[in-house]
Amino acid sequence: MKFFKKPDESAQDQNLEDLGVRIKEANLPSAVERIAVTELDVLRKIGPSPAEFTIGLTYIDYLLSLPWNRKTEDNLDIAQAEKILNEKHFGLERIKERVLEHLAVKVLRMNRRARILIVDDEEIARKNLSHVLGKEQYDVVTAPDAEQGLAELASADFDVVLTDLRMGKVGGMELLETARRKHPETRVIIVTGFATVPSAIEAIKKGAFNYITKPYKLDEVRDSVKQALEKRSLAASSRGTVLCFAGPPGTGKTSLGRAIALALGRKFARIALGGMKDEADIRGHRRTYVGARPGRVIEELRRVESANPVIMLDELDKIGQDFKGDPASALLEVLDPEQNRSFTDHYLDAPFDLSSIMFIVTANVLDTVPAPLRDRMEVIEFSGYTQEEKARIAERYLIPKQVRDKGLDPDQVVFAPDALEMIIHEHTHEAGIRNLERKIATICRKIAKESLGLQGRRKVAVDTASVARYLGRRKYQHDVVEELDRVGVATGLVRTETGGDIIFVEAAKMKGKKELIITGSLGDVMRESAQAALSYIRSNALAYGLPEDFFESQDIHIHVPSGAVQKDGPSAGITIAVAALSLLTGRPARREVALSGEITLTGRVLPVAGVREKVLAAKRARVKTIVLPARNRSDVEELPETIRQGIDIKLAETVSEVVDIVLV
Ligand code: ADP
Repeated sequence: MKFFKKPDESAQDQNLEDLGVRIKEANLPSAVERIAVTELDVLRKIGPSPAEFTIGLTYIDYLLSLPWNRKTEDNLDIAQAEKILNEKHFGLERIKERVLEHLAVKVLRMNRRARILIVDDEEIARKNLSHVLGKEQYDVVTAPDAEQGLAELASADFDVVLTDLRMGKVGGMELLETARRKHPETRVIIVTGFATVPSAIEAIKKGAFNYITKPYKLDEVRDSVKQALEKRSLAASSRGTVLCFAGPPGTGKTSLGRAIALALGRKFARIALGGMKDEADIRGHRRTYVGARPGRVIEELRRVESANPVIMLDELDKIGQDFKGDPASALLEVLDPEQNRSFTDHYLDAPFDLSSIMFIVTANVLDTVPAPLRDRMEVIEFSGYTQEEKARIAERYLIPKQVRDKGLDPDQVVFAPDALEMIIHEHTHEAGIRNLERKIATICRKIAKESLGLQGRRKVAVDTASVARYLGRRKYQHDVVEELDRVGVATGLVRTETGGDIIFVEAAKMKGKKELIITGSLGDVMRESAQAALSYIRSNALAYGLPEDFFESQDIHIHVPSGAVQKDGPSAGITIAVAALSLLTGRPARREVALSGEITLTGRVLPVAGVREKVLAAKRARVKTIVLPARNRSDVEELPETIRQGIDIKLAETVSEVVDIVLV
């Protein structure tokens, strides 16, 4: 009796056959092809009913959809890249230069022909090897003896040396030793007609990359040289190849990343690390259950259909605190050129070569980034913009972009300078320009809506009155100068994740029993600074005209308002000390003088970080004078003129110097 398959089963068979053909035609790496074929065989056996069948089918489909060897051609024209970066971004000169240097090195490294030195006393041997290796597009130099070989090595860099063992006075073994010592990056391959086991062992012990016996097969030499070159380029490229853009939000990190991709002619993808909670987000889930998914890196490669995109890993510093597993090691596997050639996503279960991806990592602050990761990265710091820079970026980039976006004509909308200044100053409070762009977008949207029912194109001039109408009442009151000087309140500068900010430290005293109360979401370091400040004042009470036992019968309370914002760091020390001294001496503190500095028990002022961001924050708040530690002199001198303009920066070595400046 003949057995007939049910119609849907034969349809399934046809599907599997088709899949088999697709696997053959997909030009997969052989290891991956084997995996796909094995999986297909399993599917043939288990038949269409069990859940595993669907899982397997989806899996093979996924394998086939990945860009295993699909890459975009790089555009290596640095002048063109520079043009693109300039077109899209205002300023950022130093940063653009660093990026271009980085690209140039990459390009050179990719384009440089490998240099090979052949040392052999037989002319025919030299000729043969030169011929074979010359055909592989290497630059080949030959030397008839070890002395000349060493001279060549000293005069130029070589990637690989092929040397005979027995020659003239100096043998190949000595050449090997000297080369390993003086040029550790150069690989040495021994090619000899007098091979013995002991000499082979000696050569390998002394660091030879390979030991080939004559007569040799051409392929053997070719492969060995190729392997040596791969090792070398790995070593050379493993240092600092990942760019890290660090700085406050809205300062152009993402948009510069996009411009780099555009300049190179590569695809662009962004992966947000912020809040990632599970290693599987990076490494993927094992495909044992329905709904298992690959990690984000593989997913993005599939989406952009290219194996060499620019991938931006965003907010490295915000990776979930409650991350399951070790985020640093998972990321190293992705970023480290030693490991990422055969990155194995749990879902794929087959190695995928990530080494041609250009990774750019971003972070707001680097303090929390684990050291092994930081060591892999070439950090480029982004900083906040001044008011003037913001205005110019808005005029040249943000406004034209938003006007176009909202379907308006480029010359239809004009922002008056004072209107722009009003948006920047009263409706945003940031180091970057993200909110500024949002506010401009809001205004453009409202203009677009208003001009909808009207005949013809109407020109719109945005002035301060229309800003008030479109955006409502002012959101921020920055002008600290406008308020009165008070006793027990000092103005300070802190660095936060979003740039710099101004704080007001308040001090109050009350009857009590020698207690120091500290409030305002302060971290441990800031609490300790407060304690140090109080101890300093107590031990110098007489010098400040205070009774020696002033603390005996009272409590002192230090408070830093905007309690919801977590604040920490030692640099508020001086501000706390000044607030307390103002309180205790009854001398008001000048409100328009902002302070930053760590203090010691002996009253010295120690240097602080983030000077640039702090100065920008002070300017935003219209502060006129800043007092910084004397040891920050070089940071202050490095500030561009545009930032220093309009602000008086004083340097102080001791707390008493600061007190003289601030207390009235
Ligand atoms: P980040 O990634 O640093 O948070 P973005 O790259 O998203 O910031 O920048 C926010 C917006 O500001 C984008 O629209 C970007 O194009 C624009 N922008 C930032 N810096 C500049 C600049 N120097 N010139 C022109 N536009 C800029």
